[in-house]
Amino acid sequence: MRRLPVYLLLDCSESMIGEPLDAVEDGVRSLLSALRRNPYALESVSISVITFDVKARVAIPLTEVGMFRPPSLSVKPGTSLGAALGLLRDSIERDLVKTTSETKGDFKPLVFILTDGQPTDDWKRQATLIRTTRPSMANIYSIGCGEEVNFEIMGQIADVCLRASDLSADAISKVFVWLSASVGSSSAKADDEPMLLANVPMADGLEVVDLAKPPNFAEKAWVYFHTVCTSSKKFFLARYRLDPKTKSYVAADAFPLPEDFFSEGTPQAPTISSSKIDGQVPCPFCGARYSFMCDKCKTLNCFSGKSSSKTVTCAKCGTVLRLNFVDAMDIGGSAG
Ligand SMILES: [Zn+2]
Ligand SMILES: [Zn+2]
Repeated sequence: MRRLPVYLLLDCSESMIGEPLDAVEDGVRSLLSALRRNPYALESVSISVITFDVKARVAIPLTEVGMFRPPSLSVKPGTSLGAALGLLRDSIERDLVKTTSETKGDFKPLVFILTDGQPTDDWKRQATLIRTTRPSMANIYSIGCGEEVNFEIMGQIADVCLRASDLSADAISKVFVWLSASVGSSSAKADDEPMLLANVPMADGLEVVDLAKPPNFAEKAWVYFHTVCTSSKKFFLARYRLDPKTKSYVAADAFPLPEDFFSEGTPQAPTISSSKIDGQVPCPFCGARYSFMCDKCKTLNCFSGKSSSKTVTCAKCGTVLRLNFVDAMDIGGSAG
């Protein structure tokens, strides 16, 4: 039986925290149950999951649908799409059965890249290696969710780019409905013709991007700050959304960060002046409504606004700081 290898390259950058990443996990599970109900897919499809954030890793190596166990996903800073493309190339070169004069090898792989932002690493070298291999290595689809996706970049990586309106659970679940239908219909075709999956009917809110005229994107529609709670010493991600009228970033929401969030490093990101920040996201652990920045380690700490002495202690590095009110300061943002 010839296999149809399917690679899912999933963006696990911190901007996917909360509802979007939960929706992707659910989506992978529903993809799997749809493929298991499809006799062609059950026979032929093998799936691999590659995740990318500060690094890229093979979460699940190429595994047949019947044996596949969906991975649990968690966020880290950064969007190392280039590294993920490198792992994809390695797997295609290593794991695929090649066609010889005696046997028919695997079908050309289908690759789906799901992302909400822009790569933070060198994606171009890997993209060029993939795009210039002949015959082509895979049929690559990129699905950009939300307003920060740069389709000029994605168009240099993928054969077809699709765009989902936003990062809601509803939009992401529609992406996976389309994906399930696409993989299912490909598995029923027993030839090597290139598939035009974009011809599988689109769901509402999902559209094919015209790469001759890539849509505008918002370079920094959101900014993110890592903040440590002075009471619990745990970290959270505070999100601020750009108000296009005032050009300032308005306090939106906060999410507790997973324990291993910083374990593999944090990419450098530009600083943002506090004069561009409007409001304060309350600490999700203790409810504190202010924050201070440590002079020494530059970490933001939540702050209740009350201090018996005129000093505060940084919950990250332990430095005792004099409280000092300033009009504006530069705050280290994060890569998203
Ligand atoms: Zn707190
Ligand atoms: Zn500190």
